[in-house]
Amino acid sequence: MRLVFLGPPGAGKGTQAEILSEKTGLPHVSPGDVFRKAVRDGTPLGRRAKEYMDAGRLVPDDITVGIIKEKITSADCSRGFILDGFPRNIKQAEALEQIMAETGLRIDAAVDFHVSTEVLIERSVGRRVCRSCGATYHVKHNPSRRGDLCEVCGGPLVQRDDDREETVMRRLAVYEEQTAPLVEFYRRKGLLRRVNGDQPLASVTAEVGAVLSDLGIGER
Ligand code: AMP
Repeated sequence: MRLVFLGPPGAGKGTQAEILSEKTGLPHVSPGDVFRKAVRDGTPLGRRAKEYMDAGRLVPDDITVGIIKEKITSADCSRGFILDGFPRNIKQAEALEQIMAETGLRIDAAVDFHVSTEVLIERSVGRRVCRSCGATYHVKHNPSRRGDLCEVCGGPLVQRDDDREETVMRRLAVYEEQTAPLVEFYRRKGLLRRVNGDQPLASVTAEVGAVLSDLGIGER
């Protein structure tokens, strides 16, 4: 099963990808997570990526495509993968097609998370992440039982630099301009599936499950 999760920032793609990854054992592949880890580790990639992330802009395609190619062609991904946050523009989608052609594989579906703008802003601005392990919470919808500390590792919960309101607005504009055309790209290929991401977390999970069983894709 090779899945692409599409949708604007704050749509809940990452949360749903994590849940599906637990259920199916398929790796959750997210360039955003790779970049955030590189920033935490202080690597050259992290320093480069941070400039773009803090400005709410996309990291250049050559960097991002290289990272994703390495991940999805690794042994870990031999049974499939859940791509969350990639592709994010037409060039990246074409690069993904090329990688699939080279490996003789194909994408099974692109799941688009449809969410209203007010909900997107509220979700991003209220999101908190663990500075140590990257686990994600929301001040209202999914608070940590340990207050300002991570339930998993006890690390401090902080707001992502790119979740400040001004940057969120910029990321939404980048989404509209560069990523939204991918909905049509995958529709034309007959791969597009839509879920209503405006609902509570568990209802979205149920809808994703229904889409996958419709495709004949079961859980582990
Ligand atoms: P995310 O966690 O998916 O919201 O990604 C956080 C940030 O990482 C984005 O705002 C971009 O700066 C960068 N990023 C994530 N995915 C991509 C991508 N496919 N192409 C370029 N930049 C990306």
